[in-house]
Amino acid sequence: MLPKNAPKTKIIATIGPSSWDDAVLKRMIDAGMTVVRINASFADHAEMRRVTEQVRRLSGRIGIMIDTQGHKLRISSLSSPFTLSQGQPFSLFTHPTADGVYIETDSSVDLAPQVPVNAVVLIDDGAVRLQVTEVRGSEIVTVVTQGGTVSSRKSVMIPGITINFNGMSKKDYEDILLARELGVDFVAASYVRSDADILSIRELLSDPRIAVISKIENEDAVTNFDRILEVSDAVMVARGDLGLEIQLERVPVLQKQLVSKCNTIGKPVIVATQMLQSMTKSISPTRAEVSDVATAIFDGADAVMLSAETGVGSYPAEAVETMARISREVEKTVLPVEASSTMIAKPTTNAIAQAVKDCCDVLPVDAVLVATATGTTARTISRFHLRQPIFAFTRDPSSARKLSISRGITADVFTDSSSTRDSGIQLLVRSAVEKGYVTRTDLVVVVAGSNILGQGETNMLEINRVETIISA
Ligand code: PEP
Repeated sequence: MLPKNAPKTKIIATIGPSSWDDAVLKRMIDAGMTVVRINASFADHAEMRRVTEQVRRLSGRIGIMIDTQGHKLRISSLSSPFTLSQGQPFSLFTHPTADGVYIETDSSVDLAPQVPVNAVVLIDDGAVRLQVTEVRGSEIVTVVTQGGTVSSRKSVMIPGITINFNGMSKKDYEDILLARELGVDFVAASYVRSDADILSIRELLSDPRIAVISKIENEDAVTNFDRILEVSDAVMVARGDLGLEIQLERVPVLQKQLVSKCNTIGKPVIVATQMLQSMTKSISPTRAEVSDVATAIFDGADAVMLSAETGVGSYPAEAVETMARISREVEKTVLPVEASSTMIAKPTTNAIAQAVKDCCDVLPVDAVLVATATGTTARTISRFHLRQPIFAFTRDPSSARKLSISRGITADVFTDSSSTRDSGIQLLVRSAVEKGYVTRTDLVVVVAGSNILGQGETNMLEINRVETIISA
């Protein structure tokens, strides 16, 4: 069942120890979570399988996303943590050594020659900072510029440096094959640097039903964004790593720019990370966090994402409830937007979508009903940020679930047993009444192709009262 009062903005929640329980997951679904994210940086294959099966058992309409780890550098296993003080010289090796600390990775990278003098090395998401003074063979000599404790397997980052990792990591390769086997709905690609990264994931997936989401989290991805967007199904503004790879103060401006580009072309965009971070420990968020979620919605995000809040936090269901409450309130003041013509859909679909927007502007329309094969028509309408809800009907459960990251769309599976165009429309509108999406007196805009749910061009629009359509 669809949660009552579901917000237009979609909510993606990371699943982890805090949300493995059926009862907690059900509360999160009831509160408005539309997609679960399994973070491959923490989940092994057994966990990916278990969570996928669990979520499918609980609801057929929740989207499942596997978020790849990407190329990761980390500190080797240590017998015990140690502390570094500011000004202290410290060497990191790029291969296992008998007594030194080395950088571990699943990628086949020749790291040392690629690290320039003066590069900054961040350990544990920047808790410890080093500056490179010299590189001697496999030894990276540094001086500590911000001291702190270093422990086993903490992350290592070298911001602003384009490292050649020689293709996909072994872990990503295996995780993507598992995503294909499990038939998840989305694969989120970490540390994307170019369109080629996305194309190689697509090739490995070799299943067009699995959408590929590009995570924008470094300078190269920002520079190559237009080409990355062209080959991606959706985008995630991954502010956690982005804020380490580039100056933090650039993140809010980039968020607005990236979201706007996605809106223009009609591809879904997710704003992620630390949105309600304090709710990992506290039952209520800070005022600044509430404002951050609101800003993402005003910027035009289709979806907002929870990470630690629902993966390891103490209040996973409350975090989803809080996001839904903020979204519902903010959405009351979001005005429909004009969208330029640079859309990816066919010209007729674009024209119909524009006509839907015009109808919704000038007529007291209550809802938009869309018959869609792949979901493209519904997405094309969604980018106008209409006040009216969009109900999308498709034959394919996978197409329906892929709409779980698109703003304002509620998607359903609908089997069209009609023989004519008019009876198909009638069945669809009846189904919308039965599901409680519309009432008999509502004024609706119905959009379809002349073969209703079949692949083909969207080329029909009807404006009518529900009762007139179903009793015709
Ligand atoms: C991020 O960096 O914001 C992000 C979503 O990626 P991850 O959580 O995988 O680091």
